[in-house]
Amino acid sequence: MRKNIVAGNWKMNTTLAEGVGLAKDVNEALKGVDAKCDVIICTPFTHLASVAAVIDQKKLGLGAENCADHIKGAYTGEVSAPMVASTGATYVILGHSERRQYYGETSEILKTKVNLALAENLTPIFCIGEVLEERENGTYFDVVTKQIQEALFDLSAEDFGKLILAYEPVWAIGTGKTATADQAEEMHAHIRKVIADKYGKEVADNCSILYGGSCKPTNAKEIFSKPDVDGGLIGGAALDAASFMGIVTAF
Ligand code: PEP
Repeated sequence: MRKNIVAGNWKMNTTLAEGVGLAKDVNEALKGVDAKCDVIICTPFTHLASVAAVIDQKKLGLGAENCADHIKGAYTGEVSAPMVASTGATYVILGHSERRQYYGETSEILKTKVNLALAENLTPIFCIGEVLEERENGTYFDVVTKQIQEALFDLSAEDFGKLILAYEPVWAIGTGKTATADQAEEMHAHIRKVIADKYGKEVADNCSILYGGSCKPTNAKEIFSKPDVDGGLIGGAALDAASFMGIVTAF
């Protein structure tokens, strides 16, 4: 079922104590509002079990920011999908542009990660988006289409229906440069059409597609008002409970 969702991506920020404190603050703040969307925080691996112990996951979902492309074994430093699930987390961000850019994550790797996450009943928040050059040379629809087709189109319609997608134009991430609400809507409508062409209108209509890239309390309302934008994946503004709540209450 298509839902409105606001998800925080903490990236490599906060010590354990700071992260638990921030999670408690968001958890507490949510008690005082009638949120019109699902709210999720995705934290560093090291924080997951401790955060799971202090939040009410009926009101505040918990996710990791990545998982390994292997299930177990000699992969020093990696964290598997079963490990993530064992902390109590139920979501995982996959394919974030920083993972693609700095850690060489290809569609082939991401396809494996998505399958491993789904096998653990983790909900992938799957990120797609073009870089500035692709925006400027006009290939952005093709780039995003290919990212979806290559990593996700081997899934059954049932499994595809379990995903959350996040359109994050890379030129807007952490730059303070937000896509306009119309640019977001144009791409979200395109993504929904790509899904409909493959899996049919019902699957496409039921898919939550989040916008990510310098989303703030001041611009969230306008972006979220667009018909194909179902919420946001929030980086910087998720590190402060008040700004994050300002985005949550934009719905
Ligand atoms: C992100 O990295 O997912 C993101 C959207 O970051 P920011 O909100 O800081 O641009």
